[in-house]
Amino acid sequence: MKYVVPQLLIVWQVWAAAPQPLVSLDFETTPTNAGSLGGTVRFETYAPGEEPFYGFGPFGRCLDLTAALRHGGTTPQDASAGGAARFKDSALDGLDAFTLVLWARQNPATPGTAPARLLHKPGAWDLMPHPAGVILILGPDPGKTAYTLAGGVRFKLTEAWRCFAVAVSPHTVAAYTGSRTAPLALAAEAARTEKSVANPGDLFLGNFGGIRPFNGWIDRVRIFRGALDEKALRALFDADLASAKYDSLPAVTELASRDAQPATSGRFRLPASAIPFSTRWQRRTHALETAQSFHATHLLWVYGSETGFVRQAQRAGLFYQGTLNGLQGQSQATTNRTNAGDASGRHEDLDGNKITPHWMVTFGPRTFTGCCNHPAFRKLFFEDAKRLAEAGVDAIHVDDWEMNASWVRHAGVCFCNACRSGFRAWLAAHHTSEALQSLGIADIAGFDYRDHLKANGVPDAAAYRKRLRDLPLTPAFIDFQVASMRAFYRDFRANLDLGSPRRYIPVSVNGLLTPLRSDRVLHGIDVIDFLHGESSQNADYQTALEYVFGGKIAEAAGITQVISPIPRSTARTRAAIATTYALGQPHLVPWDLYMGSDATGIQPRYFGTRDQYGDLYDFIHAHRAVLNATAAVAEIGVLVNADEPGAYAEYGLALAARQLPFRFVLGASRTARVPVTAASLHGLRLLVELSPSDTFCAEDRVVLDAARATGRVRFAGGSADIDAISRVMALDLLRVEGPDNLYAFLRADAVRGTHAIHLVNWNLGAENSERAETYRPVTIALRHPDRWGAVSRAVWHAPGKPSAELVPERHVDCIRITVPQLTTWGMLIL
Ligand SMILES: [Zn+2]
Repeated sequence: MKYVVPQLLIVWQVWAAAPQPLVSLDFETTPTNAGSLGGTVRFETYAPGEEPFYGFGPFGRCLDLTAALRHGGTTPQDASAGGAARFKDSALDGLDAFTLVLWARQNPATPGTAPARLLHKPGAWDLMPHPAGVILILGPDPGKTAYTLAGGVRFKLTEAWRCFAVAVSPHTVAAYTGSRTAPLALAAEAARTEKSVANPGDLFLGNFGGIRPFNGWIDRVRIFRGALDEKALRALFDADLASAKYDSLPAVTELASRDAQPATSGRFRLPASAIPFSTRWQRRTHALETAQSFHATHLLWVYGSETGFVRQAQRAGLFYQGTLNGLQGQSQATTNRTNAGDASGRHEDLDGNKITPHWMVTFGPRTFTGCCNHPAFRKLFFEDAKRLAEAGVDAIHVDDWEMNASWVRHAGVCFCNACRSGFRAWLAAHHTSEALQSLGIADIAGFDYRDHLKANGVPDAAAYRKRLRDLPLTPAFIDFQVASMRAFYRDFRANLDLGSPRRYIPVSVNGLLTPLRSDRVLHGIDVIDFLHGESSQNADYQTALEYVFGGKIAEAAGITQVISPIPRSTARTRAAIATTYALGQPHLVPWDLYMGSDATGIQPRYFGTRDQYGDLYDFIHAHRAVLNATAAVAEIGVLVNADEPGAYAEYGLALAARQLPFRFVLGASRTARVPVTAASLHGLRLLVELSPSDTFCAEDRVVLDAARATGRVRFAGGSADIDAISRVMALDLLRVEGPDNLYAFLRADAVRGTHAIHLVNWNLGAENSERAETYRPVTIALRHPDRWGAVSRAVWHAPGKPSAELVPERHVDCIRITVPQLTTWGMLIL
């Protein structure tokens, strides 16, 4: 029995040291009240775009109210602003003696002193910050009593988090305040003059009536029954301090996630370190030796079906891709223009003639485009594909791949039997008879588009081409031909899988996702595996805008886009190569390249040399492990609806120019389906609705609404001041101290905990320069140093230069690393 007493004493001491709160909100992972009342808080928004969300403070996640347009308010006529966290439990209604404890910091970007509420229980009590303490208001609204509990020490709530503790007994009110640098101390005490504060109603955190937002952060909100004494409050305060961290924001390396970019097709991607090379025709002299001199890993887009060359390339360690195109089977075509008697499935215009695009007129006889709806063309195409598969190719490229989807816009085709009967079936399936009536179709069963046009004042192909854009059935005809192209690739896939049941043969097509248009390239990306993105022909468009967007949008689509250049200057193409690899995408070695053609002929092909580009590919080869292991780092997402036109590329480049790590979050549903997924939003803290959420399809809106409901992601409009938000949310991880047109692209390896910062220079010097300008030195500042970890070692790697060990300079607000010199490209490994 003699042991019982001490045990009881221990239990009593624990209870005395840790009184149980009714409400305890730490905003950590759920809105659950950990206090004895249980229940949850819910976030409310009083002005659109000013939602509360979960931010980060010294105690981990916290209530973030910094989206509020202003701090506090001054008149009852103030417009609604900000939001609040709201809690309901009737047990709080009858409290007359109670204690409030919380931590808060005001947003330094909105340093106003207008009255703002930390807590508010309407008609009962509310709590406002004061420069030397708090103002506590007790009692129902008419005749409520304000107690200004201010001490002699003033503080700036914008500078640091502070703890506020207010104890209300039946006779006195007392306020204490402290911070991480000042111990908890009594600010002021006063005798109570009013009687009772009991009043039913909900508790609001961070607002008063929707017009007095507290613009800042609130955490560890606790409400106790009864007035706690100073000793109990100090114990709470000390326990809070003991659990505080300097920075609870996620480490930079944690932000790198490959899963953030799920593959659209889910099948095949080239590694980030792939070195693709093309010899456009088999057996070109020195092709394989040249490929090997550039450390090529993939031999892509090669015409010809000779098995020996395929084997030879594969024996040299190269992945081999054969090629088909939209003119496939043309050797079987007749040479005259009329389609009558041609059994190769060519496109047919309104006059019954075959089609030769104007830039192909010099390609030779029988250059006639094939119709992807025509059984003869399909048969020839699939047979040629089978021959390539039998020759052992690892992949197949299809050039001029858009076929009917493209030619319907260029030439208004096709009027072959298959297209005419297909269009009739498509109209019947997609339109009601009333809609068909309004399009001038009285009897769909007997509908023939050629007869219909001729009966409606379009006598021949010349008249048709002239009036194409204004004809009432043109939009439907285009939709039908786009659907035809998509159906063709699905059938092609099925056919390939049938012919090669054990080996998956990826299919690529040529097209650059810049500019992003729903009626070009994008409309097929979910029926193919990867892209060859041919750069703009004009040097004026071969800029950072094209390549930054190209890399970022391919990443968002979860697709490999091998950039295929049309070099206009060596320096320009080098910057393109650097940018593309810095963004995790491959760039074709500039050798054996199409340089454009017109009605006068084809430009001579381009053959780059090792003197021009060898150092870049040596660099890629040497750092292949880093390129493969690192993924893009981003906390800012930019929401893009690819079905709607928009200045997406310009917006992205502006963020990149300010060195703000971001990624695009892409959605499309009009033709190709690119879903917005939970994975594509993973880890984001800010989502810029460059395309508003409500423009997306229902399935995507569900995902976006769910993300919004978690409160983990702050949503901001396309016109929001991202610089200001980035400063408040600590999203501005990098600063480059150097001239304009330098870009820092941040990647990290979450497994090894390493960072790779690529620096790319788009200051290209004179028009036909061989190299970008050289800068020495250039300094990179890593902001929010706690997020970067120890950074004990920094190594600078640049093409053609020995690697250099650098000493990071630690400052209070950043880590500065100065690289000795930058020409086109370099990579800082931390
Ligand atoms: Zn056709």
